[in-house]
Amino acid sequence: MTASKYDVIIIGGGPAGLTAGMYTSRGQINSLLIEKGMFGGQMTNAERLDNYPGFPEGITGYELSELMLNQAKKYGLQTLVAEVTGLKIKNKEITVVTTGGDFITRALIIAGGTLRRKLNVPGEEEFIGKGVSYCATCDSAFFKGLPVALIGGGNSAISEALHLAKSASRITVIHRRDKLRASALLQKKAFAEPKIEFRWESVVESIEGQDFVNRVNLRHVKSGERSTIDVSGVFVSIGFIANTGYLRGILPLADNGSIITNNRMETGVPGVFAAGDIRQKTEWQVITAAGDGATAAINVEEFLT
Ligand code: NAP
Repeated sequence: MTASKYDVIIIGGGPAGLTAGMYTSRGQINSLLIEKGMFGGQMTNAERLDNYPGFPEGITGYELSELMLNQAKKYGLQTLVAEVTGLKIKNKEITVVTTGGDFITRALIIAGGTLRRKLNVPGEEEFIGKGVSYCATCDSAFFKGLPVALIGGGNSAISEALHLAKSASRITVIHRRDKLRASALLQKKAFAEPKIEFRWESVVESIEGQDFVNRVNLRHVKSGERSTIDVSGVFVSIGFIANTGYLRGILPLADNGSIITNNRMETGVPGVFAAGDIRQKTEWQVITAAGDGATAAINVEEFLT
């Protein structure tokens, strides 16, 4: 079977990919966007975005995702739900290998985002879906009236702790330092929430249970003292790693696995661009991802002509 051909393929349907797809299809470029899960990506998990311009009352991540997808499709963006598993680049022809077949393109924008970082402690893998979760907005309903632990001290962790406070009976935030990384506003809200308590300078050593999670075992990083908290759920929110496993040896990657680009979003391999959280950068916001997507698309247009 001959693979379908496109002028540009976009990998990833988060804000970077959807913006890129909106620009390229509006520019009359035959464009295919491939997404493995939900259009909107991690943005769909944001309960409320207060800092995306144009929405003074805020907007849910889910709503903004739908608006971005509809806007891109209005200009003719084609979409496919499949997972990209490989990439072959030969003689200016790029083949994108996916679970839905192979596709050939002249230009590629990689906007596949990031994956949740794991704790890598005993019990974590075993209890995924049985109490261990990486998404509070997706799974909080399962923990109504139950005590949970939440690991991490960044913006994501504290936003998730506040979300969990609507359903869980108690949220113990376990953080490896004595200060949160989260913004001052989020910290203020979390410290004012009676259901949220903190275990400072502590790390998880293991997660235990029978059929479901029952407890989490901690170690104080300075004293070495060990303790246990009885919980029904463990939410892990300790940052993200670039989703570039299938790109090793094909593109220049930074030490942390993210894709190195210049400010035109070029990767160093002609015709291959990267945008959003998957590239090496210092800001991880919906608005900056969308900006990357627009920049990549404008430069793809120039590359193709
Ligand atoms: P993050 O800012 O990288 O924070 C990760 C947190 O996990 C930190 O508190 C870190 O501790 C901790 N951590 C990392 N590795 C760990 C380990 N192995 N064991 C225990 N703890 C560990 O990640 P994030 O909160 O997911 O945010 C990612 C980006 O998205 C940030 O730029 C953030 O600003 C942005 N974001 C923004 C918003 C918003 O604007 N409202 C919301 C969510 C996310 P240390 O502090 O000690 O390093």
